[in-house]
Amino acid sequence: MEDIEATTIRPSAGFARRIIENGGETLKKCFQCGNCSVVCEISPDNEPFPRKEMIWAQWGLKDKLLADGDVWLCHQCNDCSTHCPRGARPGDVMAAIRNISFYQYSTSPVMALLMSKPSYLAVLLLAPAALIFGFINIAAKKGFMDIKPMQYINMMPEKAIDLAFIPAIIFSLGAAYLSVKSFWRALNANKPASAPVMPAIIEAAIGVLRHEKLRKCITNAPRATSHLLTMYGFIALMATTSMVAMLYWAHVFGVIGFEYHEIGLSHPARLVVKLVGNVGAIMAVTGVTLIIMRRYGAEGNKAGVTGYYDSHFIFILYVAIITGMLAELFRVADIPSLGFGVYYIHLVFVLSLLAYAPFSKFAHLLYRFTALVHAKMTQRDRARTTAAN
Ligand code: SF4
Ligand code: SF4
Repeated sequence: MEDIEATTIRPSAGFARRIIENGGETLKKCFQCGNCSVVCEISPDNEPFPRKEMIWAQWGLKDKLLADGDVWLCHQCNDCSTHCPRGARPGDVMAAIRNISFYQYSTSPVMALLMSKPSYLAVLLLAPAALIFGFINIAAKKGFMDIKPMQYINMMPEKAIDLAFIPAIIFSLGAAYLSVKSFWRALNANKPASAPVMPAIIEAAIGVLRHEKLRKCITNAPRATSHLLTMYGFIALMATTSMVAMLYWAHVFGVIGFEYHEIGLSHPARLVVKLVGNVGAIMAVTGVTLIIMRRYGAEGNKAGVTGYYDSHFIFILYVAIITGMLAELFRVADIPSLGFGVYYIHLVFVLSLLAYAPFSKFAHLLYRFTALVHAKMTQRDRARTTAAN
């Protein structure tokens, strides 16, 4: 006689309600026909998604859903929602579960709460605003607005920027590490991963850089382009900031003979930094603009539900990019009265973006990447043998 494994199921009406509140209000319409799992191009044959997640969500099976890597393999293409005969919008339900995961895997209950509601946004911005303001008061050159040529380092010197940003980044990386560790534990308890980790990481990284899964979208096809532009634009902007910091410290430690902020526009180092920065800014602003047009425009239904985590991330990222571009424009046009104010807002939003990254939708990069690595290590991330038409 076969052994029958006992499984304890803990339904939770409260968790089902949270999914509904986070954008999965259609979940109760599902009658388990299975169409969604058939049309999903990336769902494997074995235990396909999202049908099983729909029933788990209806029952409020919190532990199962939070430890389910498939929730993160889904990238909200909404092909399943288009083909659902009941209008249960499984793509949106999967997105709602991911939004709850940001809260559940947060290492700080206070940060989780502050990130979950728009009414706390002002509180979240107040901390970086006060910090940057304090640094400006301590470190700015006297009469910095009148010093010619106009330079932002006269308001916020490189050392002050590093002093404000490096601890914030360390805090962010520490919190991200703890969240990913607890997510990985949950995934592994659900499906133990035994394959080597390095090949899985490399394969997952190549997949993300190529956005190969998103490019399979039909309903939400433009998403691949906007995401690629945003991702590569953001990488270029981060590379620009890192290059400026490295050049500054290389000069401080005598590795190079020039100070970045004192060299002219024709200097090769400045040309490279400006080129990467401006191309990155144009790519990022185009990408985020396309995302906004898609999510909040006439095609919003195809893009899927937009919850507060989505809106918050888009807002902070967009303001950070736009103010960065405006700050450069006002510096070139030599308008200090506008430039310094805009640059201050830019610093506040960039600090907010980086410091709160593990608690915001920014963390979807980490969770999705972790789930992809785990899927590869458990042979879950395989092309299906019965592709849907
Ligand atoms: S979500 Fe829609 S397509 Fe999927 S099983 Fe439920 S009713 Fe069927
Ligand atoms: S939204 Fe797309 S990726 Fe996600 S389950 Fe539906 S079809 Fe699959």
